[in-house]
Amino acid sequence: CGIMGFTGERPAAPELLAGLERLEYRGYDSAGLAVTSSAGLQIRRVVGRVEALARLLEQDPVAGAAGIGHTRWATHGRASVENAHPQTDCDGTLAVVHNGIIENQEELRAGLEDRGHRFRSQTDTEVVAHLLEEEADAPPMEALQKVLQQVRGSYALAVIWGRRPGLIVAARHRSPLWVGQDQEAAWLASDVQPLLGGARELYPLDEDELALLTPGKAQIVTRDGEPVERQPDKSPPEV
Ligand code: GLU
Repeated sequence: CGIMGFTGERPAAPELLAGLERLEYRGYDSAGLAVTSSAGLQIRRVVGRVEALARLLEQDPVAGAAGIGHTRWATHGRASVENAHPQTDCDGTLAVVHNGIIENQEELRAGLEDRGHRFRSQTDTEVVAHLLEEEADAPPMEALQKVLQQVRGSYALAVIWGRRPGLIVAARHRSPLWVGQDQEAAWLASDVQPLLGGARELYPLDEDELALLTPGKAQIVTRDGEPVERQPDKSPPEV
């Protein structure tokens, strides 16, 4: 599957759709996106191709300048709208897209259910959303770091919060992830390809790195939260 993220000064949905189309070769059975604005989180999901998601958005548009998107290749739970990503927590305060497999999802889910969380999907990904909900008092990057200490498996993950429009936090472990930036926007994607048309500076995340995206800046940090300064891996030619 593929994940995609965009934060900037213009509508996020067209950026996400264009990127997701270029990631479809990685497999798809469903597609979805979540965008944030001052109005909060808006989520749209479909079974089928990115094209079907684009049609849904024509009928039922979203407005927001930051968002995350996903094409799914199901590993846990059949292809259905409930199992499509983004996945959310109990109150829909945040949204998560995930490429990979959370190997200890059964025990994590059991613990969360004991603590009162109600699940809406069969996905392994949904446990990450509920674990993040339990860290609601921590700053976003710290919250994700704490959750990743509990999770085993493989992931490229991206998270947005309804009450923090403009911010995306991401992480990778055994799944690829790229970030990019220009003066106004920042992107993330499972592959460099979707970023080539937009971002001026492109960086691959190394194993176990995280990233904090705000308009104009993709800040990479180590697993311990130390900022990483990196030369761009690719700068698309001037046009
Ligand atoms: N394991 C997740 C799921 O089944 C993500 C699969 C993927 O990488 O598309 O929803």
